Amino acid sequence: SKAAGRNTWHFFNKTMQESIIARADMERDLRKAIEDNQFQLHYQAQVSSSGQTLGAEALIRWQHPERGQVSPFNFIPLAEETGLILPIGQWVLDSACAQLKAWQKNPLTQDLVLAVNISAKQLHQEDFVEQVKATLKRHDINPARLKLELTESMLVENISDIITKMNILSKIGISFSLDDFGTGYSSLQYLKKLPLNQIKIDQSFVRDLITDASDRAIVRTIITMSHSLDISVIAEGVETVEERQYLLDNGCTHYQGYLFSKPVPINEFEVLLKKG
Ligand code: C2E
Ligand code: CA
Ligand code: CA
Ligand code: CA
Repeated sequence: SKAAGRNTWHFFNKTMQESIIARADMERDLRKAIEDNQFQLHYQAQVSSSGQTLGAEALIRWQHPERGQVSPFNFIPLAEETGLILPIGQWVLDSACAQLKAWQKNPLTQDLVLAVNISAKQLHQEDFVEQVKATLKRHDINPARLKLELTESMLVENISDIITKMNILSKIGISFSLDDFGTGYSSLQYLKKLPLNQIKIDQSFVRDLITDASDRAIVRTIITMSHSLDISVIAEGVETVEERQYLLDNGCTHYQGYLFSKPVPINEFEVLLKKG
């Protein structure tokens, strides 16, 4: 009916209006968050097949003064659209390097590798390589302690430019991990061209590993692929001993997930390290 149609339109319109306002609020708050330093890094252990913690992934947290903790799933996409990911990403890299510097002083932590998520916008900046080098230098960090996580989906545009940048950073010792692997399209041939040290099995394939035969097949294929490329493979989202065992039995080399630790503030991460 006409009335229903009008209501639908009205509803739709109002929703759109609300989401535009919400977006504008969020963008304003995000700018304020950068100014007021409302971000924090949490650290999630990355472990070897024997269970040794080799390092961590740094994951950003936003402590909003009124909304409380906002998930990166809810602000990273907007940060990318607005370009605010550039100052945020630089803050992440800087904080990660400051942490690596602190770890250098202690034999228990000096060999840890810290993985940092890089967004497409950051990587596509003309001076990305210079920014990373300058940050390492400012903090006096061994580049071998830094790992950059790129996603499969960002390797579509300008691939030759990305390969050039990766090669320069790889030559100075930085390592690269390919995040969310399996969710996009990459051929083995194409992966061979990238200076990758690791691929990361997306958690969507790990989640139902025990019950879903096609997820098991995908996971085995990715592990086999990593062996043929002679690089390491890390499974993310490992939550149970059964999942870990299946991955271990099939040749997975590295692990990350709630089974080992949730992402935690630095003091908690260091407590976990001391416990071994
Ligand atoms: P991601 O890089 O794929 O990170 C993995 C996400 O899975 C993290 O969510 C982590 O907390 C979560 N996770 C880890 N282990 C488990 C598990 O065993 N089970 C389950 N269910 N989840 C697990 P988080 O921290 O909310 O981050 C979400 C996404 O936001 C990240 O996905 C990444 O794409 C983005 N992100 C986070 N920090 C940064 C950053 O500093 N820079 C950029 N550009 N993106 C970031
Ligand atoms: Ca990641
Ligand atoms: Ca991922
Ligand atoms: Ca599961």
